[in-house]
Amino acid sequence: MSKLPEPSVKSTPYWWEDCIIPPQPVRGIDPTCDVVIVGGGYTGLSAAIELARAGQHVQLFDRQALGHAASGRNGGMASGSIRPGRKELVKRFGEARASGIAHEGKAAREDLWRFLKEENIDCDFHLSGLFDGAMTVDEAEELRRHAEFLHRTLGIEAFTVDGSEVKNYIGTDLYVAGLVRKDIGGLQPAKLLAGMIEVASSAGALLHENTAVLGSSTERGGVRVQTARGEVFARKLLVCTDGYTDGFDPWLRKRLVPVRSRIIATEQLSPDVMDRVMPARMMHGDMRKLSYYYRPSPDGTRILFGGRDGTTEGDPIAPTVHLQTELARLFPELAGVGLTHSWFGYVAMHRDMVPRMFSSGHTVYATGYCGSGIVWGRWLGQKAAFKILGDREQSRSAFDFDPPPKAVPFYNGRPWFIPLVYSMYERHDRKMLRERKKS
Ligand SMILES: Cc1cc2nc3c(=O)[nH]c(=O)nc-3n(C[C@H](O)[C@H](O)[C@H](O)COP(=O)(O)OP(=O)(O)OC[C@H]3O[C@@H](n4cnc5c(N)ncnc54)[C@H](O)[C@@H]3O)c2cc1C
Repeated sequence: MSKLPEPSVKSTPYWWEDCIIPPQPVRGIDPTCDVVIVGGGYTGLSAAIELARAGQHVQLFDRQALGHAASGRNGGMASGSIRPGRKELVKRFGEARASGIAHEGKAAREDLWRFLKEENIDCDFHLSGLFDGAMTVDEAEELRRHAEFLHRTLGIEAFTVDGSEVKNYIGTDLYVAGLVRKDIGGLQPAKLLAGMIEVASSAGALLHENTAVLGSSTERGGVRVQTARGEVFARKLLVCTDGYTDGFDPWLRKRLVPVRSRIIATEQLSPDVMDRVMPARMMHGDMRKLSYYYRPSPDGTRILFGGRDGTTEGDPIAPTVHLQTELARLFPELAGVGLTHSWFGYVAMHRDMVPRMFSSGHTVYATGYCGSGIVWGRWLGQKAAFKILGDREQSRSAFDFDPPPKAVPFYNGRPWFIPLVYSMYERHDRKMLRERKKS
């Protein structure tokens, strides 16, 4: 049985225990510049690095202290996943774009590894591999087809395991099979962000934190941007606000749904327990609708277990209890284990669940990573920068779309339907588990 979390469970990310992002010096705002970037997560910083290195005068604004949004509080699984499966992508966008998306996934992961090495960013990165669990024969078959595609088309080391072999990767009876892929790793997300802040600053980008962008209007030759500390006229505006998009851009807000994702961290577990439950010390996910993801901490001493939160206001206890229950379903010996942290942040979903960049007038957008933005944020931030620089070759991307014409139906920025969707998904997962037990 899961017990109620102790009141001592912290609501701040586990990552902040060994990485405090230093406050940025408060600087004056230049009234003109080449590019204003809104949002200081992986996307905005990635773009800032590329643009500043190309000699552009860049000012980046974030309404919070840097590191407080998704880029400083995520699961650290550097996967570059795409939510819709390949079949769905081909159906929606055609073979060429679907294939471009798959190839860019590989290029984007490799680009991130190269970036960490070249810039000397110490963020506990480890190419651990990922195990994706299947609970049913149908899911196992889907994973087998996916492994074949990854291996045959992209040359990625990927294969499926079943039966007793599963236990070499994860100590649970929940999965009948699993996909193992070796091209995915884990890192300490706040350390990655701290590293990117340092690189962007050294490249000459001006980083203004705790300074909200309040609005913008097109003028001849550029965009006038209103911030909480004064106005700036810029040749281009780049919007990288993802799940934290607020009323400053009402048009984007109607096209991007913020969804809470939550992570719990267990207390330290003994090496014996870790060896039993996570013998391969990989990144993990499964195919349930509610998308659980989990991993060992970088030092291998505890488990970080994440999933959708389902709430939209306050910080209620129910989502933490739900994750504890799911952790215990996966690893019964962890029922009742203590927690040290439980925190949430926002991920952003487009209507079709595919990340993208697009432009409208003097404004470029890079958003909508659907909970998988470590690889994509860095990648699309760069692509957006190349677009602004007018570099047609380097900005080419399968994620370059027209601006989404349609808003999310019945949505004006308040995601009232999240609890409904969450309970629908929960019912679906419960039914699947019941039917699996019967068969
Ligand atoms: C709990 C959790 C777990 C996750 N796990 C993973 C994972 O394991 N792997 C993975 O790949 N991805 C994961 N993600 C997703 C990933 O963290 C995000 O996709 C990624 O960090 C997005 O980066 P970003 O730079 O686009 O946006 P963010 O890092 O969210 O930054 C957006 C910034 O925009 C700022 N902003 C918004 N409006 C304004 C305004 N008007 N003026 C100024 N600033 C503004 C915000 O303050 C914020 O700092 C997870 C996310 C969460 C929340």
